[in-house]
Amino acid sequence: MSLDPTIATRLVHRPPIPGEPARAASTPIYQTATFALDPGGKGRWDYTRSGNPTRDVLEEQLAWLDGATGSLAYASGMAALAAVVRLVPPGGRLVTGHGLYGGTWRLLHQAGAVPGVEIAAARGDGLAELAEAIGDRADLVLVESPSNPRLTTVDVTALAETAHRAGALLAVDNSLLSPFWQRPLELGADLAVQSGTKLLGGHSDLTAGVVSARDAGLLRRLAFRRNAEGTALAPFEAWLLLRGLDTLAVRLPRQASNADALARRLAAEPAVRRVHRPAAEPRGTVVSFETGDAALSASFLRHAELFRPGVSFGGVTSSACLPASTSHAAIPPSERARRGVPDDLVRLSAGIEDAADLAIDVARAFARAQRETAPGLATREVRGTVPAAGMRRTQEATYEGASCAREGRP
Ligand SMILES: *Cc1c(COP(=O)(O)O)cnc(C)c1O
Repeated sequence: MSLDPTIATRLVHRPPIPGEPARAASTPIYQTATFALDPGGKGRWDYTRSGNPTRDVLEEQLAWLDGATGSLAYASGMAALAAVVRLVPPGGRLVTGHGLYGGTWRLLHQAGAVPGVEIAAARGDGLAELAEAIGDRADLVLVESPSNPRLTTVDVTALAETAHRAGALLAVDNSLLSPFWQRPLELGADLAVQSGTKLLGGHSDLTAGVVSARDAGLLRRLAFRRNAEGTALAPFEAWLLLRGLDTLAVRLPRQASNADALARRLAAEPAVRRVHRPAAEPRGTVVSFETGDAALSASFLRHAELFRPGVSFGGVTSSACLPASTSHAAIPPSERARRGVPDDLVRLSAGIEDAADLAIDVARAFARAQRETAPGLATREVRGTVPAAGMRRTQEATYEGASCAREGRP
């Protein structure tokens, strides 16, 4: 299922910290700001903003995963993206994809991250629209593939050729897939960026960002600036992210198959007008859908119990959100509509729960939402059981709702 069958092995055999005297089984957390220097000069580490052994191990793992010359870990995905877009000099041109995470839009259009830079957005999801926006001159092309939340994808190899012909670097925000499934650098991109908060961390307990590059000069520029600005990931978060990476190869296939099952379930649901999921493998762990009715979508969210309301995705616990009012709320409504993020769009993130439990939860939430928003509609009766709300009680309850049989269970 992954690009490289050895990933599972390599991830749990982390490289050692050179000279670590205790030979600890778990990478030690170097929770320190400073390191003693040799009397004669500098040691390998002097100050955690510039370098930290725990973060170094993490970056070695990340670079290996991304097939990169080097990787840099930042305090968040946004810090990583800010570092990347600021590679464009004033007077330069930055081209972005049609589908863009709300935070990235805010960074560029409201936070003024790239003063004096012309920003052009592609007017559609295809390669042709991107090529049109790139024209014959650009400095950086930044795309999400798949995009958040509509999961549109672009041919990265072809896009890299187009970007390079115009003299631009190509940066791919790989947050929706992670290098477990897609390595943008191997497809021709110059920079792979991602939110480590999502799939890489996987437990909704940290924020982190990653930039990986092939070119050593580019890496040096990014590392110089990260040290100057102090945006590197802290030691404890680096350790948590290492721990998340250990199980990446186990979590992701399970989450993806849960997301596939959900997509099938949603496609069969009469209240659903449209399901968004990449057409070809790899598809990742997220599925989104439209109902055509914002009130119904909001009600669905209120009634889902296993899908926790949450703005993030990629964690072991399933979650759901309305991107228009959460992850993409920073984008003004008219711009959001142009980019295909309507108010009724629901984004589901599949966790590692039992697939049948998730299917029952979806069916039940739709049945309740329809009763709430369109009480005249007859609901079909069905039975299914899921662990009680909030998972606090172990007793199971029987629900009425849309039809959903639990396979192979009493
Ligand atoms: C979440 C997300 C980010 C931002 O990452 P943070 O870790 O939340 O700062 C950037 N790009 C995409 C596609 C995301 O989903």
